[in-house]
Amino acid sequence: MTGNLHAEAPIDLSAITGNVEVLRARMGGRQVMAVVKADGYGHGSVEAARAAVAGGADWLGVVHVAEALRLRRAGLTAPVLCLMALAESDHEEAIRAGIDLTAGSVALVGQIAAAARRAGQPARLHLKADTGLSRGGATAAEWPAVLDAALAAEAGGLVRTVGLWSHFACADEPGHPTIQAQLDRFAEAVRQADKAGATPEVRHIANTAAAITVPESRLDLVRLGGAIYGLSTLPGGAPGWLRPAMTLTARLAQVKRVPPGTGVSYGHRYVTTAATTLGLVPLGYADGVPRSAIGQPLVYARGRRWPIAGTVCMDQFVIDFGDEPVAPGDEVVLFGPGDHGEATAQEWGETLGTISYEIVTGIGGRVPRTYQDEQS
Ligand SMILES: *Cc1c(COP(=O)(O)O)cnc(C)c1O
Repeated sequence: MTGNLHAEAPIDLSAITGNVEVLRARMGGRQVMAVVKADGYGHGSVEAARAAVAGGADWLGVVHVAEALRLRRAGLTAPVLCLMALAESDHEEAIRAGIDLTAGSVALVGQIAAAARRAGQPARLHLKADTGLSRGGATAAEWPAVLDAALAAEAGGLVRTVGLWSHFACADEPGHPTIQAQLDRFAEAVRQADKAGATPEVRHIANTAAAITVPESRLDLVRLGGAIYGLSTLPGGAPGWLRPAMTLTARLAQVKRVPPGTGVSYGHRYVTTAATTLGLVPLGYADGVPRSAIGQPLVYARGRRWPIAGTVCMDQFVIDFGDEPVAPGDEVVLFGPGDHGEATAQEWGETLGTISYEIVTGIGGRVPRTYQDEQS
């Protein structure tokens, strides 16, 4: 931890670069898309994207056009795909910036083609098949019409169908029968596209969990989010060859001795049993520390774990340090790579009934991300 920040989230960019390198080696020559949506899963989208490209990422993935434009403005030139198709997106600006767009409906293909006409340049399009997630994308019934619309726009010089893609529902439940069923449905969608005359450059369906556990899902390109940050939604988390990139630390804002029987924090849901030392951690649920963390031994300081004493407030929570000689300004670690016995984002997720992704993306804007060298 550096300077006098009350809290910070140091981001180990060399972990992101290293994760992409090891993933590329394991994916058997498939292209790798580093998914940096949601501000790079809370790690900083531009910084994460640069680190991923340094590790050999071929593509970048985001959800919104605004996220893609931010990468372009930062000077990132890799192909960028917007994973969500939104009618109200600024397709024209995206096309001008050379950003790939998704369409899973005839209406969207039409809107994007119209934007391409205004932009005076063809849109790069990835057609999305809904093979069973029932989220975005064309159902099997809609797929032929979407293909027809895209190929007609392509014949008119307005779009180039660069990709065909889909997304799994249960990839993080290895062996789940929907995985093979979705692969089969996607193969059928690709066959239909071939027959209709489409000439895509990439077919893609795998996210982190599928890319790691289902080799036949890797196709031409794998879309990796969690894995590049050292995380996964698989049971037990990411494999040991991936390294978590985000740490979350804070400095004790105040330390005080209190007598036995002292009620702590809102609702007095914790009451001291002996004379003890309380330490105030200046992070709360507005910073992404869930209220449900009350009582959980997730905070690391002075070589061991400490339970959260009482209610997590909006901006702060308390730890009962007993007779430990803590002082204001002492560092506590909420999560990190786990090297020293600190919790990981994976453990926070498991303990609180969620996933590591929700923990890291939930860390709020008041917590500065810092990118200094790990050693400093
Ligand atoms: C977020 C996202 C991904 C990345 O998922 P991970 O589990 O983080 O690898 C891939 N594809 C789509 C469509 C996504 O929305």
